[in-house]
Amino acid sequence: MIIAGNLLFEGAFEPGWLECADSRITRVGRGRFDGTPDLAPEGFVVPGFVDVHSHGGGGAAFTEGADAARTALAAHRAHGTTTMIASLVTATIGELLQQVEALVPLVVSGELAGIHLEGPWISPQQKGAHDPGKLAAPLDDAVTAITSLPPGLVRMATLAPELPGGLAAIRRLRAAGIVVALGHTAADYTLARRGFSVGASGVTHLFNAMPDLLKRDPGPVLAALESDAWLELIFDGHHVAAPLAAFICRRYAERVVLITDAMAAACLGDGDYTLGGLPVRVAGGVARLTTTGALAGSTITLAHAVANAVAAGVELAAAVRCATANAAAYLGISNVGRLRAGNLANVLELDASGRLLRVLA
Ligand SMILES: [Zn+2]
Repeated sequence: MIIAGNLLFEGAFEPGWLECADSRITRVGRGRFDGTPDLAPEGFVVPGFVDVHSHGGGGAAFTEGADAARTALAAHRAHGTTTMIASLVTATIGELLQQVEALVPLVVSGELAGIHLEGPWISPQQKGAHDPGKLAAPLDDAVTAITSLPPGLVRMATLAPELPGGLAAIRRLRAAGIVVALGHTAADYTLARRGFSVGASGVTHLFNAMPDLLKRDPGPVLAALESDAWLELIFDGHHVAAPLAAFICRRYAERVVLITDAMAAACLGDGDYTLGGLPVRVAGGVARLTTTGALAGSTITLAHAVANAVAAGVELAAAVRCATANAAAYLGISNVGRLRAGNLANVLELDASGRLLRVLA
C-alpha cells in the first residue's frame, strides 16, 4: 500500500510518500509520488504514537493480567497509540514479578514494547497515588530479582536516588540495560544531579511527584532541565499548567517525551476505579485518590496530549516528535517512532490542530 501526502520527516512536514507491506514500512520517498497512491490523505501523516508511561485504559489496568492488558492496548490503539510500555505501580517485589510474568506473552508477541516499574523504589514524601505500605528501598536482592529477568522485559524503572542504595541501584539497573528515570523523589538539586551522573537518563513526569523549583532550592527540576535527560511530561492541563508544559515542549523539543500516565478510565469516562488497589474517583476527566485527593494518573491518550500541546502553542511537528521519535529513543526502541523504511507500519493522519483523523496503517 502506498500512502502519499504531507509526511513528517526529520522534524518537519514535507510532501512525500511511503509504502507499507507485511506490517512494515518498506520504502519512503520525498516529493510527489509518481503514480496513483492507494491513500492520499489531506491531513498530516505521522508515525503512530509511542507511550512509555501508561497504567491502562478502556476500563482495564496493566496490573490485571494479559486479557486486561489487551483491552487497554486496544483502547489506546484506537486513539493512535501503536506502541506502549506497561507501567506497574508500587507493589511488593513478589507481586510485581507475578504481574510481569503475566505480561510476558504480550512482550514476546510484540503487543507490548516492555514494562516500566514505577515503584516500589520511590519516596514516601512524594508517593503520589502509590500505596505507602509497599514502598521500599532498592536493596540488592530486590534489584537482582529485576536485573535477572530476561532482557527487554522490564525496560524502565522509576527511582528516588535519595533512598538507601539508590545510587548503586541506578548503576546496576543501567548496567543491566534498564532505563532509569528519576521520579517520585524528594532529592535536592545536588543529589538529583548525582543520580543523572551515575546513569539515570530520564525523569518521570517532570514537575509532578517532586519538589517544586524554588529560587533558593531549585531541586530535581533544574537538575533535569540542565542535564541531557529525557523529560517526561503529562500534557493534560491538570498535572502541569498548559503554558508551562508548552514552554518546556518548545524549549526542550529534542528531549521532551509526552506521556499519558493514563489509568483505567482513559478512553472510557468518569466513575469509580482503582489504581494499584487504591480507590480512585474520576470526575470531569480528572482522576484522584478518594482518600488523599492526590492526582492518580490521567485519563488522556497521547492523541489528546498532542492536541493539547498544539492548542497551547507548540508546533505540530514538535508535538508529534515528543510523542513518537523522542519516546522511542528514550527507551531504545529502534523500529517505531519515525516514518522510516524498516520500521513498523504504524501511520496516522492528524489535522492541523493535532487531532487524530484516522489510523492509516
Ligand atoms: Zn504513573
